[in-house]
Amino acid sequence: MDTTIPFDTRGVLIGGRWRPAADGRTLTLTDPSTGLALTEIARGGAGDVDDAVAAAQAALGGGWGRRAAVERGRLLSALAARVRTAVDELARLEALDVGKPLAQARADALALARYLEFYGGAADKVTGETLPYAEGFTALTLREPHGVTAHIVPWNYPMQIIGRSVGAALAMGNACVLKPAEEACLTALAFARLAHEAGLPAGVLNVVPGLGEEAGAALASHAGVRHVSFTGSVATGRLVQAAAARHAVPVTLELGGKSPQIVFADADLDAALPFLVQAGIQNAGQTCSAASRILVERRVHAEVVGRMAARYRALRVGAALADLDLGPLVSARQREVVEGYLALANADGLRVAARGTVVADAPAGGHYVAPTLLDEVPPSHRVAREEIFGPVQAVIPFDGEDEALAIADGTDYGLVAGVWTRDVGRALRMARRLQCGQVFVNHYGAGGGIELPFGGVKLSGHGREKGFEALRGFSVLKTVAIRHG
Ligand code: NAD
Repeated sequence: MDTTIPFDTRGVLIGGRWRPAADGRTLTLTDPSTGLALTEIARGGAGDVDDAVAAAQAALGGGWGRRAAVERGRLLSALAARVRTAVDELARLEALDVGKPLAQARADALALARYLEFYGGAADKVTGETLPYAEGFTALTLREPHGVTAHIVPWNYPMQIIGRSVGAALAMGNACVLKPAEEACLTALAFARLAHEAGLPAGVLNVVPGLGEEAGAALASHAGVRHVSFTGSVATGRLVQAAAARHAVPVTLELGGKSPQIVFADADLDAALPFLVQAGIQNAGQTCSAASRILVERRVHAEVVGRMAARYRALRVGAALADLDLGPLVSARQREVVEGYLALANADGLRVAARGTVVADAPAGGHYVAPTLLDEVPPSHRVAREEIFGPVQAVIPFDGEDEALAIADGTDYGLVAGVWTRDVGRALRMARRLQCGQVFVNHYGAGGGIELPFGGVKLSGHGREKGFEALRGFSVLKTVAIRHG
């Protein structure tokens, strides 16, 4: 297995130049599959963030903000092409860094390319409106960039989240400061290199790796930042929103969920089954839109649980580069959190319907957890209400639409839901009534599709990324009223 990293990982990227953190400090990245040190990264701080914001402002003043939309689109398309040629290498780096199986990492790299293609093509299709106003006026709206945008990214899907947020921000003519997660930032660094090769002007994309409470906090509260895009935990999201409020800066928060898939007795179970399990165990359950709850109509409950359990018993967990069904969790801390929930389930006598297997040759120091299917979980139990962020799914039986809705909406979250039924009327009623940001009918796309606006309600956050909608979020509407008589 090739574990080499073919570039110097210890830099911050500011104004087109890689340099060490201002005070020279570094952090160690570890390989989740082995628990061993992988490489050193820069521990950027407030001074580096100041420099990065200044470089982004200079790029905007230097002409990035005046570039024609079609040219921004061409640059993003050129970057997408570079990403496509580097897919295998990006996938290897992401697998090493995050611990996700190679096939999943490869899908993420392709998604990054696809986001850049989408936003490259969309850049010159954003228009304003003319408005009916008073006699003797022409009134119109313009979509303008915010200016400097901050992108605070978690460790679970670095490439996908960079693609959707930096891609959309650049399409609209913003200049970006990216703060990748301290647990996993290799593909952020590789992406910035590709952006330089594709011809992105200096200062348009700046990267400051470092700790959340240092580089992240400095970025969220920076007076020069005009928009913050954050994906991560609820606790940190609250801090980020409060920090940005100091300067009345708009924030997009994507904070995860406790998303249900709801299986009615009339559903095509053969079609549903693969999605029920995959959306729970993808990326070892470390997915904001993981389907961590499976609500099943009581008439088919035994059959659905039996078939899910059979799939669980076949699941194998091992090193990321072994490319099995699941890799390790990202860190020892994350494994402790997940094991804590499993211990709670055990102490409260919840029924384990099935477990997968950690393979015998999984390296000893890796952060492995066998995927676990819990059955007949009371909806009020903590494992049915809290985001575990690990390979644990809770099956909850129900009777009828109203009970399904009450359970589905009965958590503090509202990100994604899946509805499996052959009844069109029921599908539409459920889609309209569910409190969440995205509903799939007879399908479930954890992560949710490049073209489809994505985001939550309640504690899952606010604002929408992905699709065309993201371009509205990464721009400011200006109204112009011209009196001409
Ligand atoms: P986190 O929210 O602490 O980290 C996400 C990003 O925010 C990282 O880049 C981090 O450096 C940065 N950050 C941390 N503190 C900050 C601060 N004070 N100001 C600005 N930025 C800051 O998430 P985590 O600790 O890596 O994971 C903990 C939990 O978060 C997980 O168990 C999971 O429940 C949730 N999570 C959700 C998502 C998601 O996609 N919604 C992604 C990752 C983690």
